[in-house]
Parts: sequence; structure tokens; C-alpha cells
Amino acid sequence: MDFPSSLDGQQIENKKKPSPHWGFLLLIAVSLGLNFYFLLFDGKNSEEMAKALPQVEESNLVESQIEGLDPEKNIALEEIVPPAPKIQPVSFSKSEDKKLRDKVVQSLEFKVRNSLNYTICKIVSRKEGCAALSAHLGRLMSWFFDVNRSIRNGDAMKIVFQKQEGPEQFKILKLSYKSQRFGKTYAANYFEGLDQAGYFDLDGNEVAMRIVESQSPIRTYTEITSLPGDFRKGGGGHSGTDFKAPVGTPVYSGFKGKVTRANWNVRANGYCVEIDHPEKGIKTLYLHLSRVLVKPGQTIKAGQQIAESGNTGRTFAPHLHYEIQHRKNRDRIYNPFKSKHHKHYTRKIPVNSLEQFKDTLKHYDSLLKQS
Ligand SMILES: [Zn+2]
Repeated sequence: MDFPSSLDGQQIENKKKPSPHWGFLLLIAVSLGLNFYFLLFDGKNSEEMAKALPQVEESNLVESQIEGLDPEKNIALEEIVPPAPKIQPVSFSKSEDKKLRDKVVQSLEFKVRNSLNYTICKIVSRKEGCAALSAHLGRLMSWFFDVNRSIRNGDAMKIVFQKQEGPEQFKILKLSYKSQRFGKTYAANYFEGLDQAGYFDLDGNEVAMRIVESQSPIRTYTEITSLPGDFRKGGGGHSGTDFKAPVGTPVYSGFKGKVTRANWNVRANGYCVEIDHPEKGIKTLYLHLSRVLVKPGQTIKAGQQIAESGNTGRTFAPHLHYEIQHRKNRDRIYNPFKSKHHKHYTRKIPVNSLEQFKDTLKHYDSLLKQS
């Protein structure tokens, strides 16, 4: 007979699906509860909200979302049940530092696997700029060791960074890297309390080297953003050192010599100068200038200003590209920080800024603890 079997079927179905009345009542109860909750807390305190969550059963949330009876409440539920965040956003709102205050920063702790770029891109998506972030980190770490050779699986890394507008996308505020290869933890902490900002280790020694002023192609710059050969594996590696600096910053010749060329291939190099230094056996090149103050054939004294830095030619942001070539072989490139041609030094946080530096370190650590 047809009748009993269809009844059986209905009964079985009823057992599978909870009564729509119950679902509806549950939903109303949840909605009322949430309304009451929002009235009380006005949705301002996210920590309280997160703590309140476990009281609402997960199955109820799912059911109300599926049935979609009250879209507004579903939105509210989604807002307080975010997907497990991969990066913990924290805030500088308590910062004493006015420049950093109210800018949202993020912190991350992880272990490196395969490579720096691979690891970062597993955590931060390509769209969010993982390549740029890992390039920033790699550049900073290149002051510690050869990044392509020295990273080991399981090296522990902690970073505090800030999203920023413009082509660089990020600013690293703190980097701590525990290297298994060298059995040592390296640190770089961004500090703005001096006339020129920089990255310093925990003892207050600057991470990046500086060329002694009398020989330096540029005396004031924000940061070195690229070194010869850095992170451009394969053909056509970067051949110079890029000093990030505002347009119009004075550019000097570190050594005496003679101007051989100016403004060749302006499309790529922008305004540019090349100087021959026979006594040193090298040529120096200065690219992306805003103003050239010398002419080919002109004799130059050591430390003489030759140009102003700029953003001309193929460049994304104002900087000076400084290049040292062998005099007779332009493919032989020298790193100004590794060759004998330049004398260098590292800055140390002066005693009268130590207090402020220690406060900055504490602040970065508190941001890491929040993550
Ligand atoms: Zn460059």
C-alpha cells in the first residue's frame, strides 16, 4: 500500500530535520539576546564580544545563517565571528610617539620554512603584498648574513610592521631573527629619535653601515633600500646601492676625479653623472638625479657636490642610485660596504637618547605580546 510507506517517509524526515518552529524560536532567542547585548555594550568592546561568544552555541549560529530568516542579525553574527586571523592587528594608540600614534601596525611570529618569501606568502596573501614584505625583511636581514644561503627551516622570526601608502607598501618596525646556523638572535628595531632614523640592535648599535661622511655620495638619507646584487637572482642583478632620500638632497663625489659622462640614457637612468677616479681604479655613477651641477670633462675635488638627488628615469620613488665600477671593466661592480674603496662605520644610540630607545623597544615588545 502507498499510504503507510509515505507516512514512514515523513516521519523519518521529521526526525532528520528539527521542527522549523524550534529553529525559528531559537533564532528569535539568539537575536533578542544579541540585541540586548549590543544595547548594553554598543559593539565597542571587541574583547568583551569575543568573550561573550562561546555562550552562543555554534550550531544555532549555523542554522540561523542557513535559514537566512533575519539577514541583519546574520551580518552581526558574522562580524563577531571573524575567521581565525592569521595576522594580529594591533594599534599604536597608546604610543607616546606622536608619529606612530593611531597608525595601525601588525605583528607576526612564525618559523621559516623553505624560504623567506615562501613563508611570508603562506601567511600574507600576494594581494596583501607578501612579496614586498619579504623583500623589506630580506633587505634588512642582508646586513646580518647572506640571506640566500643562511636561512634554515625552523628559524624563528618575529616582526612588527606597518602598512603604508606608496610603492613600498610596508615599514618594518621590529625584526627579530633566531638563526640556527649562527646560533644567534639578530634584531633590528626602527628608531626615529635621532636626526636620522635607522634600525638598531638591542644594544643600540645600528644594523646598517654608513660610509664616512667625507667619502659618502649622500650624507642624509632615510634608508638604504638596495645593495649590489641584492635579491635579484638571475640575469641583470642590481648593480648599485640605492639611498632613499627626498628630491633635492645634495649628492657628492667621494673622491677626486673627472666627469666622463652626464645625462646618457635619460629614459632609464634619469639625469645622471659618471666620474672617473684613476687613482682609485674606479668609476662612480649617480643616477635618477633631479639636477646635475657638473659637465663632462670637469675636474672634481673629493667631497665636492655634483648634483641633487631625484626621481627621474626608471624609478618608483625618490632615491640616489650610487654605483662603483672597475675603471676598465664595467661588469666588475663593488659593494661600497664590502670593498676597500670606502671607509665605513656604524652609529650607536647616544647616551642622551638611550631612555627613549629603551621605551621604543618596550613598546615593540608589548605589540608582539598582543599577537
Ligand atoms: Zn638602483
